Amino acid sequence: MEEMSWMKIDTDHNGSEHRSFIAAHSRTLVSLMHLVGVIYMLIFCSAVFLMEIFLTLPYMEQYYPNNSSFKTVLSYYIYVGIITNFLLILIHRKKSHFSSDQLTGLPFRAGNNFQQVPSDWTKCKHCNIQVPPRTRHCSVCRVCTLKKDHHCYFTACCIGFYNQKYFIIFSFYGIVGGTFALYHLIFYLSSSYAPFLSVQIYKYFLPYSFMSVLFGYSSFSELLLIIFLFLHISNTAASTYYFFWQMFLIFRNQTAYEFLKRTRTVDMTVSEHLQSVFGPYWLINFLVPVPFLLNKGDGMHWPCKKNL
Ligand SMILES: [Zn+2]
Ligand SMILES: [Zn+2]
Repeated sequence: MEEMSWMKIDTDHNGSEHRSFIAAHSRTLVSLMHLVGVIYMLIFCSAVFLMEIFLTLPYMEQYYPNNSSFKTVLSYYIYVGIITNFLLILIHRKKSHFSSDQLTGLPFRAGNNFQQVPSDWTKCKHCNIQVPPRTRHCSVCRVCTLKKDHHCYFTACCIGFYNQKYFIIFSFYGIVGGTFALYHLIFYLSSSYAPFLSVQIYKYFLPYSFMSVLFGYSSFSELLLIIFLFLHISNTAASTYYFFWQMFLIFRNQTAYEFLKRTRTVDMTVSEHLQSVFGPYWLINFLVPVPFLLNKGDGMHWPCKKNL
């Protein structure tokens, strides 16, 4: 009997050790995915910009010399806009985190008595605290996030109340910059490799491109440009998807989670919701980064309504 209880303790001990081993490894994997995601975005955006400045725009200048300096300035403008908004997503990521520390400053908390919190607050079973409406726990960040929309591996954080505007503007610049640079890259490849919109489009299929390099019909740099073209198309498509998806959710007064759950927590006009995401002069954010123009509200107090 004594031996059996010893064995049980040992099994439990091994089991918890095994679980913590898996947990530690999955944390390492998540950190690695975050690191790869952030580095990929920074390298990709910089590569698009450098390709514009040193390859495609000088090439196009031969054909269209009149507006080349305007295009160069526009490339710099888009690059600054995209990198600034990407960094602002990261800088503001922790502002949306909601923990027991934030409860300390709230007027309705008395000692450790959380019973006085507003009736629309719910309990997070992971953090064991009462959280405001629209706040959701993120199992990746291991914290509750105010107005959590989704967790993004490319920015290594949750998109929530304080960084959603930078995420949307980053996606917007991704569409503008992506389409702009894509046009120049296709022009360059159409002139120097094979016409893109023609029967020779098969030359852009990756198996053909690989074989073509192997048999010496095309160069390795051309293969790299074709791989880059595919990355470019997919990233521009992803930016388009995220921008229109986020704007659609704002117009519906929902987060991605609320949309999937078919609930509408808040009762706001479109203009109020736009201001809660972008701040009072919301359109100006699309022209220049204005992090000092804060979005309206605190992410905790919402004009709530009943479920649909
Ligand atoms: Zn939580
Ligand atoms: Zn997260």
